[in-house]
Amino acid sequence: MDLVVRCVSLPSAGETIAAQSASEVCGGKGANQAVAAAKAGGRVQMIGRVGSDAFANRLMSNLVEQDIDTDHVLRTADCTSGLAVVAVEQSGQNSILLVAGANGRVSVVDVQSARSVIESADALLLQLEIPTSAVIAAIRIAKQAGVRCILDPAPVALDCDDELLAVDLVCPNETEAAAITGISIHTIADAHEAAKQLQRRGSKNVAITLGEKGVALLTESAFHHVEAISVEAVDTTAAGDAFAGALGVYWAQTNDLIESVRFANIAGAIAATRHGAQPSLATRQEIESLRNQK
Ligand code: ADP
Repeated sequence: MDLVVRCVSLPSAGETIAAQSASEVCGGKGANQAVAAAKAGGRVQMIGRVGSDAFANRLMSNLVEQDIDTDHVLRTADCTSGLAVVAVEQSGQNSILLVAGANGRVSVVDVQSARSVIESADALLLQLEIPTSAVIAAIRIAKQAGVRCILDPAPVALDCDDELLAVDLVCPNETEAAAITGISIHTIADAHEAAKQLQRRGSKNVAITLGEKGVALLTESAFHHVEAISVEAVDTTAAGDAFAGALGVYWAQTNDLIESVRFANIAGAIAATRHGAQPSLATRQEIESLRNQK
């Protein structure tokens, strides 16, 4: 859950100040990407945990409203749900306190008990807001079953385990790609270098998202710069989640990675034209109708 508080400026230590407003918004990278994938036309099953707090029911019903199967989203006793307290200053600057809560309790056993869900899927989409051991367990099951694996390495782990990267596709944004590889990314050529390093570390395909500059895509056979579509961006929150969810669905459906990146670029661009995270995610119809206009 994201608790978004708007204030003129952040309080300093020991100070109490009045804030303008507060809102609760369902979030989390896994949930955002699950919703993005469902809206983009996928049949989605989620594996994860919520806590035993008041947010847990809201988070669960939000997923159910989006037709996401929650059989493997477990409730965790004596634990808060994953929580982000986001303070937005008048200047637009954000400060975020992140509480892993129940996300930090997702275990290898949880993942193993969802084995049949992973084995019967067309694609497994992973993020790093749960323990690495659980992510690796899911990757191992998917690989054994020949299920396509996609990792969005966010939030970025500086000592990113190579087993995490050894998947069919990794899709970091440029900041995450730079943090993992140590290569600062200013140009498309820099992104190509970073993608090559990720490929050497085991990723079959690499899609580095570059905001309005589109995507640097290194497939098994070639490098492509797939341009973003031009839009009037107002808030790029969740553009990366929109991209990952749409890409996972379209790639599983078509097996055409370049076309899938084009499709996902449109989903990312639409998210950038709308405020908020989940409310900004596009439906399949919206993505296709914008594609037909371009
Ligand atoms: P993140 O949200 O993880 O930082 P990006 O900002 O790179 O990810 O956005 C993901 C994708 O969304 C981009 O690759 C692009 O396709 C699309 N996108 C994001 N911002 C814009 C924008 N201003 N104009 C057009 N497309 C955008």
